Amino acid sequence: MTTPSPHKQGLLRVLDASRYLTDFKKGLLAHLSNPRRAITVCFPVEMDDGSVRSFFGYRVLHNNVLGPGKGGIRYHPGLSVEEVSSLAALMTWKCALIEVPFGGAKGGVACDTKQLSEGELRRITRRFIAELGDNIGPHTDIPAPDMYTNAQTMAWVYDTYDAMHPGRNNRPVVTGKPVDQGGSLGRQDATGNGVVFATEHYIGLRGVNGHRSLQGLKVAIQGFGNVARPAARALAERGAIIVALSDSQGAVLRPEGIDPQRATEFKLQNGQLGGMPGTTNITNEELLTLDCDILIPAATASQVHASNAPDVRARLVVEAANDPVTPQADLILQQHGITVLPDILANAGGVCVSYFEWVQNIQNEQWEEEEVIRKLRNRMQRAVDQVVDRSDSLRAEHPDDSYAGLLRAAALVLAMERVSCAVLERGIWP
Ligand code: NAD
Repeated sequence: MTTPSPHKQGLLRVLDASRYLTDFKKGLLAHLSNPRRAITVCFPVEMDDGSVRSFFGYRVLHNNVLGPGKGGIRYHPGLSVEEVSSLAALMTWKCALIEVPFGGAKGGVACDTKQLSEGELRRITRRFIAELGDNIGPHTDIPAPDMYTNAQTMAWVYDTYDAMHPGRNNRPVVTGKPVDQGGSLGRQDATGNGVVFATEHYIGLRGVNGHRSLQGLKVAIQGFGNVARPAARALAERGAIIVALSDSQGAVLRPEGIDPQRATEFKLQNGQLGGMPGTTNITNEELLTLDCDILIPAATASQVHASNAPDVRARLVVEAANDPVTPQADLILQQHGITVLPDILANAGGVCVSYFEWVQNIQNEQWEEEEVIRKLRNRMQRAVDQVVDRSDSLRAEHPDDSYAGLLRAAALVLAMERVSCAVLERGIWP
């Protein structure tokens, strides 16, 4: 069975959710399904060996009716404008759902960071930001880290934009910066912590395998990057047993539990998780169908699809990555009684604390980490409550409709209602 592209999946999901919106103007559907603006740039960069290479970069603004665009910058060899567009749309729904005053955007450069030196990455970043010019800005479109970019990349983004716009406070142009450059305390771990706050709260409300807390639950996590590492740590702190972790080269299994701190140190020393003492090497595919209570795909898109969804044994799948479960897999998991906490809810912690960083930058303030974490927890819990409530009412209104029973449907309906309502309230121009 072929897996539709993430872009197609996004369109299908918006179309599906639009069926449950009351007072929805059908003419808005194309507007909500497509980017408002998509920019492609191609620029040359001098490499360390003196050669010159051209790189393609993208920045897509999906929607800005609720505020300036907000979304990460991803560096990945296969990056395309189509992929960036679907991720930008997810950001629109995520921001609306977590109630931060931003629209959705995304960007990136097609490049393989593993083959590039720090100097080459810095030159790629500077030239990419220079090419984007005033298409990004503190009140137009605000980037952040995503796959294979980090706080260092964001410092280069800030510095480049600042050089192009001297004499004003440019810190709010980008979030996820190093703390000494205006980054927020708590931002580094925000997405992973948010994943755990959402999971913990959901389990408290609805339970998993008869448990109402994370204590003793077995968790398999795909990926071990910016999102997965803090999520693994926070889960272990709550007594969950991390039975498997992975990176792009493979996965490691230890049914008695893997210490996330040890895994971090091993990965740092060896460049991979494979071969970690006390663990067994397995594949990323095997990780997805392990015997566990919670599966957390925290790496990349379309990992759980029609072919492997029937073999998933977890009872709860938490989408820490964007788009890791395809629409076909959603329905298969549901038939097997497996709940999916959707990406626009589960991984919204990153954009939530990015918003806090933006507010602090505008005010030239630095909040205490406890304050950031408390505010993040409150927002994640509120969003989970709203999605669960809406899911209950959708299910009651459409008892024979399997799509209506998905938490994803409820999350999208809430987000789309907020955006479409704002379009109409503001009055369609002219
Ligand atoms: P990252 O680059 O820090 O980590 C990605 C991890 O996935 C790495 O451990 C890598 O080895 C692994 N990986 C890559 N390709 C893989 C594959 N084919 N199979 C298995 N593992 C693979 O990225 P990140 O920031 O942790 O982002 C992970 C996911 O979370 C992405 O989907 C991203 O869009 C999403 N996300 C990130 C944030 C954030 O704040 N960083 C916020 C929301 C959503």
